[in-house]
This record gives sequence, C-alpha cells and structure tokens, in this order.
Amino acid sequence: MSKGRRYLIAGNWKMNGLKKDGRALARAVAKHLEAVKEPKKLPFDLLVCPPFTLLSRVRKAIKGSVVQLGAQDCHAAEKGAHTGDISAAMLKDAGCAYVIVGHSERRANHGEKDADVKAKAEAALAAGLVAIVCIGETLAQRDEGRTIEVNRSQLLNSLPDGATPDNAVIAYEPVWAIGTGRVATPAQAQEVHAAIRAALAERMGSDAAGRMRILYGGSMKPDNARELLALPDVDGGLIGGASLKVADFWAIAESC
Ligand code: PEP
Repeated sequence: MSKGRRYLIAGNWKMNGLKKDGRALARAVAKHLEAVKEPKKLPFDLLVCPPFTLLSRVRKAIKGSVVQLGAQDCHAAEKGAHTGDISAAMLKDAGCAYVIVGHSERRANHGEKDADVKAKAEAALAAGLVAIVCIGETLAQRDEGRTIEVNRSQLLNSLPDGATPDNAVIAYEPVWAIGTGRVATPAQAQEVHAAIRAALAERMGSDAAGRMRILYGGSMKPDNARELLALPDVDGGLIGGASLKVADFWAIAESC
C-alpha cells in the first residue's frame, strides 16, 4: 500500500444470515468502531455486504457509524421485467454505497461473462454506487501459466470506460483461494496486483491507476492479512468466511 490510497476492508457475507444474525453481526462491527476515539482517522474504510434481505436491517444497525453498506450483485438494467433481480438504483435507494460485481461465484454459477460484469458495473456507476469489480484466475489457468493474461483480459473487458478511482475498486480473487483456506503467497498476490495496476495505467493513465484501490480476496484471515496488506499494490481485502466472525473481521482490519 502506498500513500494516497486508503485501505478498504470489505466483508462479503454471501448467502448467510437471517434477521437476528445479520443485525447482531453488523452491530458488533459497528461496536468495534465505537471504541475508537477518532474513527475517521483510521487508515481503512470498513464495508459490509450482506444479502439483499438484510440490507435494510444492517443499514439501521450501522447507522451513525463509519461502516458502509454494500450489496453483492445488481442487474444491468435500470428497471423492468427482470423477475427476481435487483437494480443498482434500488440498492442506492436501500442505502448502499458499494456493489460487488463479477464475483467468481456469479461468473461460475450464473454464467456471467466479462460483458455482463461490465454492464452491471456501468449500471452501478450510473446509480452513483462504487463498483467492486472482481477478477481472478482458476487453478487450471494458473497451472497453464496464464494468470497474468487471464486477469488482464478480465480486467480490461469488465471495467467500464467511465471507471475512476472514485467510483470503482478492483478485487483480485484467485478462484482457487476462495473459501478453500489456500491463500495466495505474498509474491503471487503482489505479482498480479502490480500487473493489474500496470494494465490500469495503460487504460486510464498512471495517476489514476496509482489512486485505484486493488483488493485481495481469497481465504484472507487474521493470520495472513498483515503480510498481504503490507504489499505495495494491495489496498485492502474482500473477505468472505472471515467476515462472518466479527473478531476475525476486525483483526484483519486492524492489520492495516
Ligand atoms: C470471497 O468470496 O470474496 C472470498 C474471498 O471468500 P473467502 O474469504 O471465504 O475465501
């Protein structure tokens, strides 16, 4: 992490939590911040991304704290006949500041391609949300020596032209590290993060690329967070499993 970029620690709760658990977890995160004298001076932004059903409850639970609210997906269209879907404008209306798009579980389980991810990210920007655009290689692609090529291609094809460091965040999440307990080594993470920043520089110039936040995601835990977050091009974490345990989530944030 270099000067000028603020860490973002984002919890992706995935499809977990009923009303009681969601409220308790969000309250517990906010409570940690209450104990901090000047939370605005912390070196990180804190974000929780609960399932859609908990957005309103979590919003109330974190009210008055600096914890921000995000969602895990949105539809590319503004409104209309899309049964079961949620638009970016609806998320904004529900109090979200961020939305995750292109998570590998959406790409794998819902067949989302880069073009779909880009359309969703465009919708997010149009609604005034910050889009967290996820990319990452599979184990087979890594074993074939295609890691950089795959991430570069996903990045350039998923990121909308209107993306800036203020309205977009990149999350590098090697698919083989998500939910597996197998984490990228610092050298593997830094190599890909640096390549992402180089690709961003080609797209938007080195100033903007230097301000863009690039998160690492994939089995980030309190015991590996410190060395990952210390890497020059890692600007935070997108955290799945460990974000469901407040002590772990907070410990990761404190590693910043
Ligand atoms: C994720 O789903 O974005 C993620 C990184 O999950 P985990 O931390 O559980 O690997």
